[in-house]
Amino acid sequence: MTYDEQIRRAAEAILDSGSVAVLTGAGISTESGIPDFRSPGTGLWEKMDPMEALSARVLFNNPRKFYHTGFKILTSMGNAEPNRAHFVLADMEKEGLIDAVITQNIDNLHQKAGSKNILEVHGDTRTGYCLKCGVKVEIGEMAEKVEQGEIPPVCDACGGVLRPSVILFGDMLPPCFDKAWGYAADCDLLLVVGSSLNVGPVNNLAAVCKRLIIINIGDTPFDSRAELIIRGKAGQVMDDLYKAIERIR
Ligand code: NAD
Repeated sequence: MTYDEQIRRAAEAILDSGSVAVLTGAGISTESGIPDFRSPGTGLWEKMDPMEALSARVLFNNPRKFYHTGFKILTSMGNAEPNRAHFVLADMEKEGLIDAVITQNIDNLHQKAGSKNILEVHGDTRTGYCLKCGVKVEIGEMAEKVEQGEIPPVCDACGGVLRPSVILFGDMLPPCFDKAWGYAADCDLLLVVGSSLNVGPVNNLAAVCKRLIIINIGDTPFDSRAELIIRGKAGQVMDDLYKAIERIR
């Protein structure tokens, strides 16, 4: 099947579906300059083991290591801007073409692009919170404390230890994961954009959905379940897909 034929079929599948959910991963943000984990040559995995740097085990047992490695990755995403793929998803939501964006990303780019119904199943890098009293703090406030050598940073209100609101390897998933599961299981079509589908349990969303379309440069373990796999860069593919939808309807 040619690329144009794949785009047309994906556009028709979206228009034919009563409900569409989207699952995004780090690959949707590489064109915004944020490295993913697994892309050969550029992924973070080439330089470090993110499952170590971004683990709850290191946060609690070796905070100095966490704040000198993992925390720096988290705070490095703040200046990135959304790309065409994020904007197309926001427009598709406004037009009622998709119901929700379930994202593994922690880069805030779906919000910046204007998406509204976003389920951040791996948390976010906007805030942190106190493990003792639960108060929320801006991530910038935590970063300032760390810069001044306060490791781990502590809560001004109660002296408890602060931690980022990101879901680290080894953490429980947040309550919105149940909602994401509901969207994936109940929707007519799940569109996966820029995820290797290697990280569980979120990758199981691709197992419970009825119909599956994958847009990704590389392979995923769920390719055999997908009715369509479009191999290409998310920005271009989503732009072409949106134009095809506009032509057809
Ligand atoms: P991943 O790194 O495992 O996989 C990314 C996939 O996207 C790869 O298969 C790659 O081939 C593909 N890809 C890369 N650039 C692409 C592009 N321009 N267009 C289409 N596909 C592209 O990422 P993942 O599946 O999201 O899982 C890993 C974890 O990484 C997640 O838990 C996520 O929280 C975390 N993470 C997030 C960010 C972010 O927030 N931007 C960045 C790095 C890692």
